[in-house]
Parts: sequence; structure tokens; C-alpha cells
Amino acid sequence: MYSYDLLVIGAGPGGYVAAIRAAQLGMKVGVVEKEKALGGTCLRVGCIPSKALLETTERIYEVKKGLIGARVQGLEVDLPALLAHKDKVVQANTQGIEFLFKKNGIARHQGTARFLSERKVLVEETGEELEARFILIATGSAPLIPPWAEVDGERVVTSTEALSFPEVPGRLIVVGGGVIGLELGVVWHRLGAEVTILEYLDRILPTMDGEVLEADRVLVAVGRRPYTEGLGLENAGIAPDERGRIPVDEHLRTRVPHIYAIGDVVRGPMLAHKASEEGIAAVEHMAKGFAHLDYQAIPSVVYTHPEVAGVGHTEEELKAQGIPYKVGKFPYSASGRARAMGETEGFIKVLAHAKTDRILGVHGIGARVGDILTEAALAIFFKASAEDLGRAPHHHPSLPEILKEAALAAWDRPIHL
Ligand code: FAD
Repeated sequence: MYSYDLLVIGAGPGGYVAAIRAAQLGMKVGVVEKEKALGGTCLRVGCIPSKALLETTERIYEVKKGLIGARVQGLEVDLPALLAHKDKVVQANTQGIEFLFKKNGIARHQGTARFLSERKVLVEETGEELEARFILIATGSAPLIPPWAEVDGERVVTSTEALSFPEVPGRLIVVGGGVIGLELGVVWHRLGAEVTILEYLDRILPTMDGEVLEADRVLVAVGRRPYTEGLGLENAGIAPDERGRIPVDEHLRTRVPHIYAIGDVVRGPMLAHKASEEGIAAVEHMAKGFAHLDYQAIPSVVYTHPEVAGVGHTEEELKAQGIPYKVGKFPYSASGRARAMGETEGFIKVLAHAKTDRILGVHGIGARVGDILTEAALAIFFKASAEDLGRAPHHHPSLPEILKEAALAAWDRPIHL
């Protein structure tokens, strides 16, 4: 029988970050993870491998499209080398977590955790019984497979297999126009596949069979579902809600006060950094009795080209809530840096409170807009006004100047338009 201050179930970006923070706070921490590699969906089969492919294929695509000031002939895609790069990046990241666990004295149990009671957890494969003062559930999510989709892992696949097709499919159908489907569709399109994205499932479904006959591969990416299979939640007196999520209060506590839950397995956007911030908030609440997480300051990014990103309220939400707001917008085409890069497509929009000028949301589409919106997230986090952001000096020439000008447009008026 092992005893811990904190037992974390699942070592994704929620669980592993929580474990490290708890160790930093002086807790004796154990982690149960069923996979051999640490890092969860994000590091193994999500954010990291998909970005390794998106970054590299973006460059290949640029060359295919034609570089300014250069003529390139005889471009050949070396898919095995591309996939090997992706696997190496994944390995470096997952091994990095192993190193951090050792450095922070975190004990690792490999196997599937199942609650025996509110306090006791069994590791199925090893028979180890673990006990802890606090338990954190961070078991994440799994691809949602609709009943009609006959996923065979070869021709009809989920995002996991679509990260490693052994050859570029001639024709790829992506079912689902969400972030994951778009990003992976873009990867294979850049490599030469003819990609069709099917959205509005209810309307498209009746024709589905016919369409599938026409494709080499079909990626089913209609969303993800919280993952609690085999966890024995009932033995801990916890019941998932109607969407399979573990209900938690504002401190991420389940109905059992010493059991917390975070990340994809609870409400809110399924994002790695949201899971990590919740992990930190949960363990700080355990250790200190207080913690705060500003959900409005959590950005989300779609890493297509151009990128799409947003943080805070959307205009639709402000309208629906009757919050008075003003809008400042600035196009990439008016930015010197964007012109120099040949990236004039897109814009950034700042939404500020009509009376107080406080920034309520920032949204954009354009090259590297995700990186630019880090500053917008910080502005929202610090409750800045459009005037604050508009007056803050920005280096020139730079893409973040587009954000500054959009803030100026919301506050008073932009300079360069
Ligand atoms: P997970 O990362 O799912 O980790 C849960 C862990 O718990 C897993 O390792 C699992 O093996 C383990 N586990 C489950 N049950 C048990 C059990 N009973 N016992 C022991 N271990 C268990 N998010 C972003 O923010 N940015 C991106 O760019 C991005 N890209 C993505 C691309 C793809 C293709 C996919 C699929 C997802 C992407 N996401 C992205 C989403 C992101 O991966 C998730 O939001 C994030 O991983 C959630 O973290 P988590 O810790 O809650 O769960």
C-alpha cells in the first residue's frame, strides 16, 4: 500500500503539470498513467505531433506555392523523414516529462487506475493499492466515434492514425469541420491529398456511404468525449453528467471534497493549456485553500494557414448578454511587417466595453495570429483597457502592431488606416 498527499490519475497536460506544481508545494505525489509514455493526448497524439506536422508542411507548401525571389525545381516530399521528425519531437517531449518527474521526486505507477473507494485506488495491471489525502482525476478525453462510423484504423480512422498515414492519400475525406479535422486536413492537403471536409453531419450523413466509396481514407473528427472508462467512479460515489463529464465546483472539486477533476474530463473547452491551468489551480486550492483561474483569459488557436485565434468574449456572446461594446478592427494589409512577409490576408478585432473601455475579447485571422493573441490574453488577464493596449509601445515592424492598431481603433482611432 502506497500513501501520498496527492494521487494524480492521468499524466496529460492537466495531470503532469498538477503533479509538478504539487511537488513544488511540498506534497508527496504519485501519478498513475496507463500509457508507457507520459504527456497524455496532447504530447503523444495531439497538440505536439499535429504541430510538428503543421509547421513542417507549412514550409513545404510555401515552396510549392512559390517563394518570393526564388525559383525551386524538383521538390519531393519525403514522408518517412517527416513522420520520423514528428516521432522524434514527441519522444523528446514525453521523455522531458519523465525527467521532470524524477527531478521533482514524483512517483510513477504504470497501469490503469480504478477507484476501490473514496480513498483507495487500484492499479489494475500491477495490483498495487494506492491511498492519498487528495486525489486528482485527469483522465482526459478520447475521440468521439458516432455509431455509423466504422472506424477500422486503416481506411476509416481517428486523429491518432491520421498523424501517421504511411503514404499521402490521393483523396481524404474529413468528417467534422472542427479544429482537429481542419488542422489534419490542412497537413495532408499540403502534402498533395485532395481533401474534402464534411460539416453539418445531419444533412450530409444520408449521402455518406456513397462519398466514402470515393475516398482513399476517411478521418472521423467529429469531436472528443470525456474519458472515464474503467475508472470505477461509482466506487468513489461520483456520477458523470449527461455528457459524460465529471461535475466539479468552481474549485474543481467533485462532490467528494478530497477528489478533484480537471482538463478534458470536466466542463469547458478541450484545450491543453486550460487543463494545465486547472491542474495548478486545483493543487493550489488543496495546498493553500484558495486559487483563481480566469477562464476569460484562456486563448484558443486553430493552427491552419492563415491561423484563427480568439480570447475572451465573442461579439455574439456580448450581444446575447446585452453587454454594450465597441469594436476596433485592423487589417493585415495595412501592416508593414505583414506586407514584407507577403502575408496581407486577415485582420484582428478588439472588443471593448462601450463605457469602461475594458477589453472583453480579441479575435483574429492571419499569419501567426495565435502568437500575437498571447498579448491580448495578458491584457484581458490584467483587465487592461483598449487605451492601455493602444498606448503600449510595440516594436516596429512587427505583427503585434496590428493588435495595437486594433486597440487604438476600439479606443479612439488607429494611426495607420
Ligand atoms: P489527456 O491529455 O487526454 O490525458 C489523460 C491521460 O490520462 C492519458 O494519458 C490517459 O492515458 C490517462 N488515463 C485515462 N484513464 C486512465 C486510468 N483509468 N488510469 C490511468 N491513466 C488513465 N489542445 C491545445 O490546447 N492545442 C492544440 O494545438 C491541440 N491540438 C490537438 C490535436 C489533436 C489531434 C488532438 C486529438 C487534441 C489536440 N488538443 C489541443 C487537445 C488536447 O490534447 C487536450 O485538450 C489535452 O490533452 C487535455 O489534457 P488532459 O490532461 O485533460 O487529458
